[in-house]
Parts: sequence; C-alpha cells; structure tokens
Amino acid sequence: MTINFIETAFWSVLTFLNHGLLNLSTWQHVLAALVLTHITIASVTIYLHRHQAHRSLDLHWVPAHFFRLWLWMTTGMLTKEWVAIHRKHHAKCETPDDPHSPQTRGIKTVFWRGAELYAAETHNEETMQRYGHNTPNDWVERCVYTAYPWQGLGLMLIIDIALFGAIGLSIWAVQMIWIPVTAAGVINGIGHYWGYRNFESPDASTNISPWGLLIGGEELHNNHHTYPTSGEYCPYRQRS
Ligand SMILES: [Zn+2]
Ligand SMILES: [Zn+2]
Repeated sequence: MTINFIETAFWSVLTFLNHGLLNLSTWQHVLAALVLTHITIASVTIYLHRHQAHRSLDLHWVPAHFFRLWLWMTTGMLTKEWVAIHRKHHAKCETPDDPHSPQTRGIKTVFWRGAELYAAETHNEETMQRYGHNTPNDWVERCVYTAYPWQGLGLMLIIDIALFGAIGLSIWAVQMIWIPVTAAGVINGIGHYWGYRNFESPDASTNISPWGLLIGGEELHNNHHTYPTSGEYCPYRQRS
C-alpha cells in the first residue's frame, strides 16, 4: 500500500515536471520565453526609462504597479536605483563619473560586467540622493520590493516550474540574464561604442539597429541621447 502510494506520487511528480500545467511543445516554450522577456523589456523601457527616469510619458497606476511587480519578479531591480543611475549616466555621459561608459571604462568591462557596474553604483549614496528623486516610496516599495529584493525572483522560479515543468528552470534562467545582457551589456556598452549615428550628440551614443522592435526602441540609443525626453525615437521626426 505504502509502496504503491510512493510509486504513484513519484510518477505524478515526474509527469508534472515533464509537462508543467501548460503542457507546451518545444516551440511554444521558445515563444513563451520570448513573450516573458519582452514583457521585461517593456517594463524597463516604458516604466523605468520613459515614465520614471525621463518623465516623457504618464502611466495609469495599474500598469505602473504591474511593471514594478514584474521587475521585482524578473530583475530584482529597484525603481529608485535604476532611475538614479540612468539620470546620472545622462548628466555625466562619457566622463569618469558616468556609471557605465565604455569610453572611460572600456567596452569589454561594460559589455561583460555591466551588471556588476550597475550593482556597484547602487551603493553610491550620493547618486541615489542627487538623482533618485520623485521615485516610488510607498509601503509596497519599502516593505516588499526593497525589504525582499530577491524573493520576487524565487517567486518567478516557482511560477515558471509550475507552468512549464522542469524546462521552466531554463526559461527562468533566460529571464534572469535578459536585462544584464541586453541592457547592461548591449545598450550601455555597444550603444556607446559601435553602430551608426543620426545625430551629432556630444556623447558617443550610437544606434545599433534601424528597427526599434527587438529591445523596445532602446537600440536607437543615439536618437535617445539627442532627444532624451521624447517618447518618439523616429530619426526623421522634426521637433517644432
Ligand atoms: Zn546612454
Ligand atoms: Zn535615457
């Protein structure tokens, strides 16, 4: 009886790990990973970058809270820290005070260790004080996101395994490296080092790709440094 129960439980767990709740095919898993990482990209570019750091668009509180929750579960980044570091990057661009300029720190350092540069700058109290103003400081920010910075990532891991089974671990790993690679490495590194320029901005910013789809328009980084508060990155758009 006991052996039967253990055997049944064992095979049930194994079947669950094989399929998860959704029981998707391989291609559906790839698609799911792309959708999940794109939600993270949207959270960074719409909420952190354009809404919070540059105030270039307003957001209803519902999507704003969703983006905060999603960022807590997929990146562990705090709004105030991201915003402060990014505003300082614009203010001190390509100088030794720029938190992540490949012109002063070397492209290899920013590309491969961009996430470390970001993490180090979060401990710079002066940066937080000077550039982190007007960011969320409500109960959920203080008592959940700031108090439990890594628990959201654990929650995402549990959700991924529940939905996708054991392959959810790989999908979670892709989610975890997405922002360190695309934002801290590619945009902050390549976007100030290699590519083409539409505008002669005083910094070394470049556009990486003529299409703004892959990483939410952030690949048009030279356009952005030229018009930081513009929600419209189109190079042909004339400002009145
Ligand atoms: Zn930049
Ligand atoms: Zn910016």
